[in-house]
Amino acid sequence: MERGLVLQPEAKDLVLIAADEDGREYHLEPHAAGAWFKMHETAKAQGIDFFVVSAFRSVDRQVEIIQRKKLSGLPLEQILAVSAIPGYSEHHTGRAIDIGTENCALLEEAFEQTESFQWLVQYAKQFGFIMSFPRNNIYGYQYEPWHWYYQG
Ligand SMILES: [Zn+2]
Repeated sequence: MERGLVLQPEAKDLVLIAADEDGREYHLEPHAAGAWFKMHETAKAQGIDFFVVSAFRSVDRQVEIIQRKKLSGLPLEQILAVSAIPGYSEHHTGRAIDIGTENCALLEEAFEQTESFQWLVQYAKQFGFIMSFPRNNIYGYQYEPWHWYYQG
């Protein structure tokens, strides 16, 4: 299937939404950040706890990721099956977020078996978030139950 190549503008305005103990920071553009805070709080209040694994990513950073994978010997075709071409990742917009939860490998299909995923399927839309790459999506990307996009 043809990949849906859509250039994604890089966000200029960014808000810090989380930081790891090791100092890694996560950012989203302001509207997506506000929606994320609301969604995260609401889920928590209902006993569902999930966290951010990846948020805004610059075009330069995407180039680095792909170069690192190439240097490790992976064929480009295999790399581009899971990583967007620089300039084409929804993460550039500051509106996409990868979500993880306790006791589940990060960025794996198994995420769909978690309570967090079930909650997102039911409620994320109320906060403006949609799953970008469901099974058999029109873009030809792999199924990514952890990747959610703020469309407002
Ligand atoms: Zn993602």
